[in-house]
Amino acid sequence: MFNQEAVRLGSNRSCIRELFEYGRRRAAEVGPENVYDYSLGNPSIPSPPQVEQAIRDILSDTDSLRIHGYTSSIGDPETRQAIADDLNARYGAGVKAENLFLGCGAAPELVAVFRALATEQTEILAIAPYFPEYKPFVESVGAVFKAVAPDVPDFQIRPEAVAAMLTPHTAAVIVNSPNNPSGVVCTRQTLEALAALLTEKSREYGHPIYIISDEPYRELVYGGAEVPFLPLIYPDTIVCYSYSKSLSLPGERIGYVYVPEAATDSKTLYAAIAGAARASGHVCAPSLWQKVIARCASLRPDLESYDRNRRTLYEALTAFGYETAKPDGAFYLFVKAPGGDANAFSRRAQEKDLLIVPGDGFGCPGYFRLSYCVSHDMILRSLPVFEALIRETEN
Ligand code: PLP
Repeated sequence: MFNQEAVRLGSNRSCIRELFEYGRRRAAEVGPENVYDYSLGNPSIPSPPQVEQAIRDILSDTDSLRIHGYTSSIGDPETRQAIADDLNARYGAGVKAENLFLGCGAAPELVAVFRALATEQTEILAIAPYFPEYKPFVESVGAVFKAVAPDVPDFQIRPEAVAAMLTPHTAAVIVNSPNNPSGVVCTRQTLEALAALLTEKSREYGHPIYIISDEPYRELVYGGAEVPFLPLIYPDTIVCYSYSKSLSLPGERIGYVYVPEAATDSKTLYAAIAGAARASGHVCAPSLWQKVIARCASLRPDLESYDRNRRTLYEALTAFGYETAKPDGAFYLFVKAPGGDANAFSRRAQEKDLLIVPGDGFGCPGYFRLSYCVSHDMILRSLPVFEALIRETEN
């Protein structure tokens, strides 16, 4: 009677949510100061003050019917123009307002793009470690999800590994840099090698293989790491952007899809994405938030507290003997589990009220993820637990 896949998805909580709920229960029992919860990727820095000021200004200087009314389904032209201006100022990318579609954050934008590309036997590739929701999103549109093996231990992208998974049915490869869960930022060299491979294979198969660039963490980079703008390296790139992390607005649901004019069949592709969103029930992105973004498109987050957390954790964990990829972006650290079994290690950590996420769900067993969007104080209190765990494993 019901769609069984929907029942399964709705009944099984994600491992991350389970851990988070467990952490809440434990905090009530033993005190919040004794629980070290690294499970959720919920931003812990407030939105820039200009965001709240923009809301106040809009409420006082805009007609209420216009604030709360439907907008055009592709989004207010002023907002799309503000985003285009910002992208052009930063990257000289030649973006026009009509190449942008305003969506409700990266998750529904990705689903719309997957649906737009899904024809018969369509395959979409993700590169491990990857955001776990890609799989249900891809499968929900009737396409086949395929995972490329991780490039251990650096978690860049190995073109040979991607090449091994490509077939004439491949419509797209998802790239997520800065990456959830590894925190790795793909180098320009890595992206150019991937672009060269996909250009060659697109020619061989006689159709484009698009890159879907999932970019909620684009602005979250440290130590001057470069995040190249992928459409300038590979024109067949569809960008899914979100303000969830960059402006700490995950509950507000606002972002955009950018379809470069130079992409193959750009206008038809754009129409397919808009149509796919419509078929999924998209009406318009939240009107108030569109107006906020029109005023705040060029704002960047103040990353000082994430960076401090990152340095403290990275330096302490590597000094204890943990191995981890270089975390140049996002707010995650992806750490090799001492002893090799990340599930067993995570259970032992949980016994000490340290909540870490095993890498299996990210397509990368043997590693665990830490979300360091937490208080610096919690990190300092948790360090003796990390040290005890690795010492116990060694003995
Ligand atoms: N993609 C990645 C890699 C993410 O980590 C997330 C959220 O954590 C999303 C997409 C979805 O983000 P949004 O809140 O924009 O839907």
